Amino acid sequence: MFNDPYINFHTHHPSGSPDVLEIENLNFGQQSGGKTPFYSAGLHPWFLAGIDLPEAESWLRRHLASSHCLALGEAGLDKLTTAPQALQSAAFQRCIRLAAETGKPLVIHCVRAFNEVLQLLEKAPAKPVSIFHGFDKHPQTAAMLLDAGCFLSFGAALFRANSPAADTLRQMPADRFFLETDDKDLNISTVYERAAEIRGVDTENIRRQVAQNFRNLPGVGVSLLGL
Ligand SMILES: [Zn+2]
Repeated sequence: MFNDPYINFHTHHPSGSPDVLEIENLNFGQQSGGKTPFYSAGLHPWFLAGIDLPEAESWLRRHLASSHCLALGEAGLDKLTTAPQALQSAAFQRCIRLAAETGKPLVIHCVRAFNEVLQLLEKAPAKPVSIFHGFDKHPQTAAMLLDAGCFLSFGAALFRANSPAADTLRQMPADRFFLETDDKDLNISTVYERAAEIRGVDTENIRRQVAQNFRNLPGVGVSLLGL
């Protein structure tokens, strides 16, 4: 237990460091940079222009068949991007269905659309385990998502003085969060140190907790990860 790795739940730039278990995010058509064996594959709402959804779904299915593809994502809804909402919704609904069908966790990108995302999750025939990544909202929004059974993943917002992310992380249940660097130039160990400071525990405690949360996440093949 003492040697739990740092888990970087969502990154676009893996470090390749041996003491970090990193999940490299691949958007549709992207290939891994080869620094980490583990990844997620998704349809990011920023990159949907001109997309052929059946082709994107085949790409996703190919990846989800791999045991090294630990999650579907990122995928979701973004009110501030140019892709039409109907297209975003159609792509996201495919992702929800595929994640539920394959039993893989769904990593969600959500900007100003928390109610809509929850509605799509609730109306799906089967609801996948869902993690809202890059979380930077107030405890009230977090409570709504936690009540719906979702997880939250935190990164750069924990360092921003004007973000409520630190308040949310301080107050939330220990068994429902992850940590990440996303597309930022951050060292994951720094994010763990910040999380430890916020929750008033030591970094080792955060490492144990996040590793435990990861082990308990349905759909993650822990035997493969050596956790
Ligand atoms: Zn991302």
